Amino acid sequence: MTNQAPGGGSSAAAASAHAACARFRGTDPLVVGRTRRALAADVGFADDSGRIPEARWMRAMTFERLVRSEKFASEVATTTVGRLGLDRPTEVVTVNAHVSTDKTAALLAAAHQRATESGAATLIHGLAVPFVGFEESPATEVKPDFAVVAPKVDGNAGSWLIVGDAKDYERVRSRIEDTRLLKGFLQVALGAESAAAWSRLPKGVSVHSHGVLAAPRNAFLQPESLVELLDDHRAEVRMRVEERCQEAAGTRYDDASSVTKFVAHLQATFDPSTCTTCTLFSFCRNELRTSIDPADLLVELGIPADLRPHVVGLVDGTTELGNAPASVRANVSATLDGVARLTGQRRTDQAGLAGSVNVVIAKSDAAALGVHGIALQRVTAEGRGPWQTTVFEDPQSPETRRGVMHLLGRELTKAMSEQRKANSAEPSPIHVVVTDKSTADVLASIADNLAGIELSRLRWERDMSMGREALTFNGEPAQVPRPLAESDRTAVSFLLEEDRARALTLRSPIVDVRAVLARHVVAGGPSVASQRLDYLVAWAESVGGTPVDSRAFEDEIEASDHAPGARLTNWQSDAIHKALAGSAANRRKSGTGLADPERYAALVTEELRYKCAVLDRALDVLGTMPVSALRVVHRAIEGDAQAVWRRRLKLHASDLVRFGRTYRHWRNSLVPSIESDGKCHGQLLAFANPQSANDLATEAGVREVAVATVVRTSPLVLDVGSRRIGDGSRIVLLHVNDDVCVEHPAVHMTPQVGSFKFAGLSIGPLSPHVGDVPGRFEWAPATVPPLSAGDRLIVADFAWFSDAKRNTMLNVGRPQVDGVSAPKIACRDDSYADDPAGHQFCCRPHEDAEADWSDQLADRRARGELNPETWPPVVDGDAFEVGATGAPTGNATAVPSTAPPDDVTMDDLE
Ligand SMILES: [Zn+2]
Repeated sequence: MTNQAPGGGSSAAAASAHAACARFRGTDPLVVGRTRRALAADVGFADDSGRIPEARWMRAMTFERLVRSEKFASEVATTTVGRLGLDRPTEVVTVNAHVSTDKTAALLAAAHQRATESGAATLIHGLAVPFVGFEESPATEVKPDFAVVAPKVDGNAGSWLIVGDAKDYERVRSRIEDTRLLKGFLQVALGAESAAAWSRLPKGVSVHSHGVLAAPRNAFLQPESLVELLDDHRAEVRMRVEERCQEAAGTRYDDASSVTKFVAHLQATFDPSTCTTCTLFSFCRNELRTSIDPADLLVELGIPADLRPHVVGLVDGTTELGNAPASVRANVSATLDGVARLTGQRRTDQAGLAGSVNVVIAKSDAAALGVHGIALQRVTAEGRGPWQTTVFEDPQSPETRRGVMHLLGRELTKAMSEQRKANSAEPSPIHVVVTDKSTADVLASIADNLAGIELSRLRWERDMSMGREALTFNGEPAQVPRPLAESDRTAVSFLLEEDRARALTLRSPIVDVRAVLARHVVAGGPSVASQRLDYLVAWAESVGGTPVDSRAFEDEIEASDHAPGARLTNWQSDAIHKALAGSAANRRKSGTGLADPERYAALVTEELRYKCAVLDRALDVLGTMPVSALRVVHRAIEGDAQAVWRRRLKLHASDLVRFGRTYRHWRNSLVPSIESDGKCHGQLLAFANPQSANDLATEAGVREVAVATVVRTSPLVLDVGSRRIGDGSRIVLLHVNDDVCVEHPAVHMTPQVGSFKFAGLSIGPLSPHVGDVPGRFEWAPATVPPLSAGDRLIVADFAWFSDAKRNTMLNVGRPQVDGVSAPKIACRDDSYADDPAGHQFCCRPHEDAEADWSDQLADRRARGELNPETWPPVVDGDAFEVGATGAPTGNATAVPSTAPPDDVTMDDLE
């Protein structure tokens, strides 16, 4: 080893997503003596991958500041100690080691003494501990954000050291993703391993088996502590550290030789979907792009290694083609000639239809639920209306979240009213149409946030009417918010309905146009690039248009200033954040609190225009795709469910509860709905999609669908490839070769109360055929299809659908709506008040349920069973949004912006 790299022991290295790549491991800063970003520049491919947008950096800094604030430092320490079953500390002392090992050792010794002598807990910020296994290398340190030192209990002498990290993770639909938490706890575990191995850990201090992550509890970035057992994480860290030591010892890089050659000789494990956060991504991709080996194109595209031999013939033109999925062949072919391939599926989605509201948003990187602007477009019977654009000057404020719901609620209300005018007995459903999943997540998370606030408000309203003080869960005076307006509630409730609908496959309150288009088009280039709607749309337009130059277009999209989805490109995020937060001088000069309000508005508007244009193009290209006869069936199913939702909304009956928080009785009562949804979904898929039907027919254990071959036509004789379907079975013909029977003009669908009735399909019994060929039957359908000998058919067992006697009709059962824990048609405004017992589960309004819960909490508080009286502290299962009056809140745009340090990457933050 020649020298030591600054920051070479960063926690991320031990918990990296790239640890499986030999080139990544071999270019450890410990080996090559420079940071990863410097290395990328030195090999000629300076790389912005993993660069942190300024707004995102400010968010991390803001969160760290909150964790260090007096109030939350003490809260984090106390709840951590409480959750580990230790004694309530006599006091909490907060100190800072300023990332110095000497200071850390001294503060640990003092904290230990404080713990053992007076029972105090100490929260130490900014620790520095030598990287486990590298204690002699002065430049490599692990830097846990904080640690808690607390006395042991039950007469055990000594103190515990509980290692922690602060992570400003976003909550998506109120949850932090498991993969994020896992990564965070791996970093904590590295801190714990390093502390446990450190020669200067004071005698009497033991590293605790558990670690703690401080993560944001709400949109104001106020922290809470998540405590977890570290055993498995520490075992993994030990394994990684061992690997790293071996790699460092076994790989020799000599300063005098070419670093490019050194990097090139290390074998890369390239994957375009995960490598983008590695600083060597551009270097590795260029290596593949300039390679003369035809198989390297397949690596560049991210085609799995086991499939490459089957499609390499498409590239070299000589190797025989093997058995690869159609989508993989289509991807390679499209890359080679620049024209996307159509999957042949017909449309069943509702995008672009009357009653839909198209929505794009520009999300702020400075806050989990921050929005810079929104544009909405309502589709009526006359077609798409004008886009309406709104820019928010204070992206993270609660008023902006209400503003987003207000604008959406207004359009949804208009859409509902138009649908009711068109058909008052059975109004068609409404849909929100978005450009990516992230837009749906941000909108649903905002809805969740506002629903939580409204439910808290209802409890406090009860408190005040009963002469009680409005208190937070922890017993502090609450800031009582204003009520949720009824039209805003329409949006909030609709988005929560979407969240609950995720348990059902056939629901579609929110339509993700990118996912819809991907069902019809296979683009060229790495398939991960098709995760962007602008990329996929341009490829879709290549069908019958101008071919796409695959690599050039991939680069063009990567270099684009704008992005189609909710998130901004780094460039645009920085520009917008600077216009918003800017420098202190600019802020004073503008007199508005914003650095440059005009530029801010212009940038956000321009960004929204791009997103609108991409969504318009996507709807245009979808408009050219053939429509399935089953689209109306899908529409009717969504319509059924929305009729129930409208009753919920009208009666305020559980319309503000999302699926994850429903009580067990409700989730159990939904089981029949979920089962009937699954069955109907399977039947419609077998009907409409030859590929899926074929997969079903050839899957072991599936008895309802089979492949059959026509032996002769008069009489009609079939060879049926199923042991379950035979003599006496009645079958229905689904597909002839790749022709879809249900799409035939002679087939008619009539919606009925409990089912969709199809007439014109070929249905009839199988009977034994004279002769002794097994699986050969005569078939006598009531409607005889035009068939020829040798035709390949896909047939289904009629009994899967219904037990009707006649062979002229087939019924597909409609999925059951929630008939237990939802308002029934007969429920009225006063039903619950008149008969609480009879309407306890269907239409009890939130107002009543929350008043009841408020009374229960008040009783518990009076008995001393709630925080802060109890020890250990009670965990708030709801963890709703409203904080205590006067508690510090985080606003990452409140201070002028600073750039993130060069050696920190997204991998370190996330
Ligand atoms: Zn009722």
